[in-house]
Amino acid sequence: MTASSADCLFCRILRGEIPATVLGRSDRTLVIADITPQAPLHALVIPRRHAEDIGAFMAGKDAEAEFADLVAQALALAKEKQIDRTGYRLVVNTGSDGGQTVGHLHIHLLAGRPMGWPPG
Ligand code: 5GP
Ligand code: ZN
Repeated sequence: MTASSADCLFCRILRGEIPATVLGRSDRTLVIADITPQAPLHALVIPRRHAEDIGAFMAGKDAEAEFADLVAQALALAKEKQIDRTGYRLVVNTGSDGGQTVGHLHIHLLAGRPMGWPPG
């Protein structure tokens, strides 16, 4: 998980080199449908700035405002899809024990079915 932005999967999607179903966008983010959805709605909110994980991302300049923008994009999609009343889950997987498989920070938005706790 040491991909540079040149060969990073999500950077390639951000550059349009790999197709994705776009669900939203802002100056600082792109929201896409997960290719292997784990729930009826499974979106990925991706910052345009490459950072390997949440720790690297938060070390960046202006990171708090940028992270707030990611959350705002997730909430906007939740409202648009009308799952803000039934509920949803926001997830940031980090590192190998956290189940992270793509080394570019992203927030999962999962909704549309009941989800147990703790996750498996
Ligand atoms: P992570 O495991 O790093 O938290 O999440 C990575 C997510 O990216 C996974 O849920 C996986 O299904 C998704 N993913 C992997 N490759 C692609 C792809 O090429 N396109 C899209 N849209 N999602 C992908
Ligand atoms: Zn990247």
